[in-house]
Amino acid sequence: MKRIALLGATGSIGRQTIEVVESHPGLELVAAASGSQSIEGLAPLTQVGGDLVPLLERARPDVVLNAVVGFAGLPATLWALENGVDLALANKESLVAAGELALAAQRRGGGLLLPVDSEHSAAFQCLEDRPPETVDSLVLTASGGPFRGRARDELQEVTPEEALAHPTWNMGPKITIDSATLANKGLELIEAHFLFGLPYERIEVVVHPSSVVHALVRFRDGAALAHLGYPDMRVPISFALTYPERAATRIPPLDFASGLRLEFHAPDVETFPMLTLARRAGEQHGTYPCAFNAANEVAVAAFLDGRLPFLAIAEVVEETLAAVDGAPARDLDELVEADASARSLAQRSLAVA
Ligand code: NAD
Ligand code: MG
Repeated sequence: MKRIALLGATGSIGRQTIEVVESHPGLELVAAASGSQSIEGLAPLTQVGGDLVPLLERARPDVVLNAVVGFAGLPATLWALENGVDLALANKESLVAAGELALAAQRRGGGLLLPVDSEHSAAFQCLEDRPPETVDSLVLTASGGPFRGRARDELQEVTPEEALAHPTWNMGPKITIDSATLANKGLELIEAHFLFGLPYERIEVVVHPSSVVHALVRFRDGAALAHLGYPDMRVPISFALTYPERAATRIPPLDFASGLRLEFHAPDVETFPMLTLARRAGEQHGTYPCAFNAANEVAVAAFLDGRLPFLAIAEVVEETLAAVDGAPARDLDELVEADASARSLAQRSLAVA
């Protein structure tokens, strides 16, 4: 029996995780947490809001599935890595913000870090633990979101409702907006850098509207391996929770007879500058990725509240990145300080936007 602690149990990933756990006799929920909704009875230990570390200490799970949204997921990520408890990670923001600290904690703890993000789960499977020097480059696919193909001036007036209508994935509101701005792919670029130890110039992003190819790895011998499947998060969730078993799921296999189309294009970085901003923040290292994430969280919340136009999300992030010092964080306190300082700069930039 694998004993699982599920954090963010009421969200999109959380609910799909419950389905996976319920359909697999070898998986058991021992603890669950949500941000605000009641989850009484979902697991022997449950918690709504508050500090998740004491819950994890009490539950002592075999696997933590972290599906909290945003920087709030960081303490749980670090707890699992530090304590050698396997971490199934959906909460990409924690790894983006705290990449170096997280990897150092994992080296000390010695547990597995299994990506739940579909692209990274795909890349992890294509890579099969091969060393980075055998890899030519990693390709992350992006659906392009609801505004793919639009020009900048057509995005002036878009509303949260329009931005929330994602063409291929049904997800929580924050990541859906991130998909519309391409910030999500920017976060994933940084996430991939930390997960797979590849420099940024060897990680490419391509737009692939049908979201069937999740990632692709080009090897130095000229071969490229791709991972395909219908867009359904239960596949990477199940892979991470049952690793290395690759348990059966009820997801239908790919049907080529129905006319699958695999198209790939370069992303339009003029219209969607968040991808370039993320790449630059990643390349600057230090706490620049943390600041990118913090400013994005502030700007997305303001957009969802109707307080900020869609195109100003990238402006707030760009201004914040230009204003932070970006110095590396030696410990969690310094990282939390970098996050807070980026948030207050982003708030200031919101006020004048
Ligand atoms: P969501 O908004 O649907 O759910 C978020 C969950 O986190 C909810 O259960 C909420 O109660 C909980 N939460 C929020 N703040 C919390 C706090 N301070 N403490 C405890 N719990 C808190 O979000 P989602 O779409 O499920 O995404 C969750 C994470 O997974 C995000 O990091 C997202 O980027 C990542 N992810 C999601 C998908 C997807 O398909 N939804 C795909 C890949 C990665
Ligand atoms: Mg993804």
